[in-house]
Amino acid sequence: AKALGKAQYQVFDTAMHEAVLRLLQLETDMRRALEAQEFVLHYQPIVSLTTGHITGLEALLRWQHPQQGFISPIEFIPIAEETGLILSIGEWVIRTACQQLRNWQQQGLVDQRFSVSINLSARQFVQTNLIQQIDQILFETQISPFHLKLEITESNIMNNTKLVTSILKQLKKRRIHLSIDDFGTGYSSLSYLQAFPADSLKIDRSFIQRLTKSSVNSGLIPAIISIARAMQMSVVAEGIETLEQLTLLKHLNCELGQGYLFSAPLSIAETNELLIKNPCW
Ligand code: C2E
Ligand code: CA
Ligand code: CA
Ligand code: CA
Repeated sequence: AKALGKAQYQVFDTAMHEAVLRLLQLETDMRRALEAQEFVLHYQPIVSLTTGHITGLEALLRWQHPQQGFISPIEFIPIAEETGLILSIGEWVIRTACQQLRNWQQQGLVDQRFSVSINLSARQFVQTNLIQQIDQILFETQISPFHLKLEITESNIMNNTKLVTSILKQLKKRRIHLSIDDFGTGYSSLSYLQAFPADSLKIDRSFIQRLTKSSVNSGLIPAIISIARAMQMSVVAEGIETLEQLTLLKHLNCELGQGYLFSAPLSIAETNELLIKNPCW
C-alpha cells in the first residue's frame, strides 16, 4: 500500500508539473501572440425576443495557437489577467471590434441601432487610461459611443467598487451602454445595483438552464427581471438553447437573448453571411 501510495503521488506530481509547464509555456507564447496575429474575434448575435431580429453582436476572443490549436478564453484570459497582458489584448479587442462594426456599417449590413458588445476585465479598469483609450478608438473608427456596449462582471465590479464606479460614470456620460455580465453569480446586492449606472443585466446561463415550466413564476429569473424593470435596465438572457427556454423567457417579457438556439459565436465570414440573410427567429 505504501509503494502504491508513492506511485500515485508521483503520478499526481508529474501531472501537476506538466500543468505548470503548460501554463508557463502559454504565458510565453501569449507574449508574441498579439503580434503574430493569433487572436481573432468571433461574434454571437444578440436577438430581440419580441421581434426576432438581431440587435447586436457580442465579440468573443479566440486564440488560434500554432501548435496547440484553439485555446478557450476560459483558459487563457485568467493568465492574461495575471500577467497584465490583458491590457494590450483588451485594447486590441476594443479597437478590432469597433473597426469591424464600422465595416459592417459601411457595407450597409447593420442599421443605426445595431451595437457591438465587448467584455472588459477588471484589470482594464484599474489601468489609468481606459477612458482615453476608448475615446481614441471611437474617434479613430468613427463609431458613436451609443453603438458600443461594455460588459463587466459583477465580481469585477465588487473587487474595486469605488474606482470602477467612477470610471463607469465617465463612460455613462459619453452614452456608452454598460452591461452587468453573468448577473446572479456574484454578490448581487440591491444596494450596489443602485450605485452603478448600468443599462442592462445579462442573466447568467446557469439560471436559464434551470428554467422550467414549473419554476417559471418562482425562482430568480422573474425576480431579476422585475428588479431590472424597476431600475429601468433591460435584460439579456444568456445561453438560450431550447425552444422551451425561449417561450418561457418571452412569457416573462425578457427583452433580449443570446444562445446556441439562435447561433453560436461565428467567424467574420459566417457573421457576414448571417447579417446578409438577416434572419428572424
Ligand atoms: P461570457 O462573456 O459570459 O460569454 C458567454 C460565453 O457563453 C461564451 O463562451 C459563449 O460562446 C458561450 N455561449 C453562448 N451561448 C451559449 C449557449 O447557448 N450554451 C452554452 N453552453 N454556451 C454558450 P466563450 O466564448 O468560451 O467565452 C468564455 C468567457 O471568456 C466569456 O464569458 C468572457 O468572460 C471571457 N471572454 C471572452 N472574450 C473576452 C474578451 O475579449 N475579453 C475578456 N476580458 N473576456 C473575454
Ligand atoms: Ca459577456
Ligand atoms: Ca456572461
Ligand atoms: Ca461567463
